[in-house]
Amino acid sequence: MTDSETAESLRVAIVGSGPAGFYAADFLLKSARPEFEVDLFERFPTPFGLVRFGVAPDHQNIKRVTAAFERTAKSPRFRFLGNVEVGRSVSVEELRRSYDQVLFACGSASDRKLGIDGESLEGSYAATSFVGWYNGHPDYRSQQFRLDSERAVVVGMGNVALDVARVLVRDRAELAATDIAAYALESLEKSLIRQVVLLGRRGPAQAAFDQGELESIADLDGVGVYLDEGLDRALLEPSHELSAAARKNVEYLRTLPVVSTAKEPRRVILRFLASPVALLGDGRVERVRVEQNRLEPDGKGGFSAVGAGDFDEIEAGLVLRSIGYRGIPMPGVPFDERGGVIPNRDGRVLEAPGGAVIPGLYAVGWIKRGPTGLIGTNKSDAKQTVSLMLEDAASGRWRRKADAPVVDALLAARGLRVVTLDDWHRLDALETEHGKLRGKVREKFYAIEDMLAKL
Ligand code: NAP
Repeated sequence: MTDSETAESLRVAIVGSGPAGFYAADFLLKSARPEFEVDLFERFPTPFGLVRFGVAPDHQNIKRVTAAFERTAKSPRFRFLGNVEVGRSVSVEELRRSYDQVLFACGSASDRKLGIDGESLEGSYAATSFVGWYNGHPDYRSQQFRLDSERAVVVGMGNVALDVARVLVRDRAELAATDIAAYALESLEKSLIRQVVLLGRRGPAQAAFDQGELESIADLDGVGVYLDEGLDRALLEPSHELSAAARKNVEYLRTLPVVSTAKEPRRVILRFLASPVALLGDGRVERVRVEQNRLEPDGKGGFSAVGAGDFDEIEAGLVLRSIGYRGIPMPGVPFDERGGVIPNRDGRVLEAPGGAVIPGLYAVGWIKRGPTGLIGTNKSDAKQTVSLMLEDAASGRWRRKADAPVVDALLAARGLRVVTLDDWHRLDALETEHGKLRGKVREKFYAIEDMLAKL
């Protein structure tokens, strides 16, 4: 086989079936020369990653993006290999032997910690696990959340913080028709939480959420969004230049009432310039000790929060830290501990941050750039990584490896039940059917065993 022949058809393994993995698959499959065969590996029997397990159940419109992914999956050169955990069921080394290129799209499966006293008390959890729980994520379905106090504190001012706050205060009847996990709905129906205090360590102009997301909470029946009484109004009139998003946020925040005027039974209260310094309580969270912050220029044109030495306490029985997702290391692949990502240059995997390129390994999505951006951000990101994969393929540096799909034989020898695209469609139909019977969009399977038992 000559090099020019080898460049005409290449086999790619993508690890992770979230938006980044599917967008990348789509770009790869659209290439005519070389032509790519794409095997997409997923540790769960179900595809779509964060669209299934991260997007809030009351954001069904966002989940419609899966229709585009299903179209990609129709290609005869695409295979879904679900229920296969790369790094466990099959090693990265084995993938490298079977595929010309390996693309990591495994996202950020863990969360960041605050690193404060009391963080591991009962009642304190990562918002990401709460999100996984209400979305029926197999890893979080059995977790218990204390919803037996009147007030919850959510640390962070991003869109995930707003998602969890909204799910905590939203009318249960409105959630009932979504694809929320039945066990989560049942717990939320018994929840005593009426107030959610969001703590932002910096000011209104530095909030990470999107204005529309906050407004959609204020629009909910029986829910009010308020500013904390102690807010220095001068922060709502910043003199420095703002990004368009920050300006929108600040303008909207100016229109919000302060909490002392609250009428609605369920409330979301925004408190800025406040950092939790300890979670206090006897065996479980009862109070959050908070330090007031001030803003100081960070020397890079922005502002950092600096503790001002004034402390107070908020009574709360539930604390969700919503301060970001974090990638986890994949055995056999370099990991940048500081950034929680695979070290890479525009998507080409590096031996270490700033180090040499490892030929044939690529990264895309959150494991490439960190846990930021909307679903659509992964499209341009995937385009960038795939363009480098094409460039490398065109350079003829990688010969097409043996035709035999070595990995299939390995998985079969290991007795793994690989979930195919047809299998997924069967599960999908069952979930939709179960949902219909309950007046819901979908009733998910939560346990991998239950899914496999249906195939
Ligand atoms: P994010 O947007 O990065 O927000 C993280 C928040 O945590 C920020 O307010 C950050 O404050 C704060 N934070 C970080 N470290 C902290 C610490 N040690 N103490 C206190 N606060 C701390 O992350 P996210 O909310 O997890 O969302 C991830 C991505 O998904 C975002 O791009 C988001 O827009 C997207 N998303 C979108 C939607 C939607 O469109 N509906 C829904 C969910 C998620 P600083 O700014 O001070 O660092």
